[in-house]
Amino acid sequence: MRMILVGPPGAGKGTQAARLVGRFAIPHISTGDMLRAAVKAGTEMGKQADTFMSAGQLVPDEVVIGMVVDRIAEPDAVDGFMLDGFPRTQPQAAALDVALNAAKVALDVVLLIEVPDDLIVGRITGRRMDPETGDIYHVEFKPPPADVAARVVQRKDDTETACRKRLSKYHSETAPIVPYYRERGLLRSVDGNAAPDVVTARIEAVLAG
Ligand code: ADP
Ligand code: ADP
Repeated sequence: MRMILVGPPGAGKGTQAARLVGRFAIPHISTGDMLRAAVKAGTEMGKQADTFMSAGQLVPDEVVIGMVVDRIAEPDAVDGFMLDGFPRTQPQAAALDVALNAAKVALDVVLLIEVPDDLIVGRITGRRMDPETGDIYHVEFKPPPADVAARVVQRKDDTETACRKRLSKYHSETAPIVPYYRERGLLRSVDGNAAPDVVTARIEAVLAG
């Protein structure tokens, strides 16, 4: 299964990916997670990416494309992957096609999780992450258990200002790739405005159908 998850920031891509990868036994490849790991490790790429990420801007295509092309060539991704947060621009979508064509493989599905803009800021500003496990929580919608609560952290780009910039980038740069996949018959969309379990069931239904 070669699958892409698309949706605005806070749509629930990471939450749903964590639930879905086990079913398909494929790696969850999140460009946001990879970039945050590079920032934390202080690599040259991380230093370059940090400024863009903190400001709610997209990291330049050439940085992200190289990172993903290398990652999907790794042995664990040869038979399938779940890409979360990539592609986010038309050049990224085109570069992914080139890499997949060269490897003589094809995408199976592009899953769009739709959530209205007016819910996004609340989801993003309330998001918390367990730095030890990467588990995603929300102060209101998914509070961390007592033994985890003391160590959860807030991403520095999860402010209202950065979130609004990211949302606007989503509409201008990322939403235009949706028709590209729809025309090829790859797109499946689900309404992400429901409890996480309900959204998972909706995703399973569209993937089965
Ligand atoms: P969210 O969970 O809010 O959708 P991510 O964790 O996927 O955000 O990404 C965080 C940030 O990392 C983005 O705002 C952007 O700066 C950068 N980033 C992640 N993926 C990409 C990408 N495919 N292209 C450019 N920038 C990216
Ligand atoms: P994305 O990866 O698309 O940016 P996340 O999975 O990180 O989204 O979810 C963003 C925030 O919203 C997190 O705090 C998460 O706990 C919360 N969340 C995810 N799915 C739902 C849902 N269906 N209903 C309410 N809150 C949700």
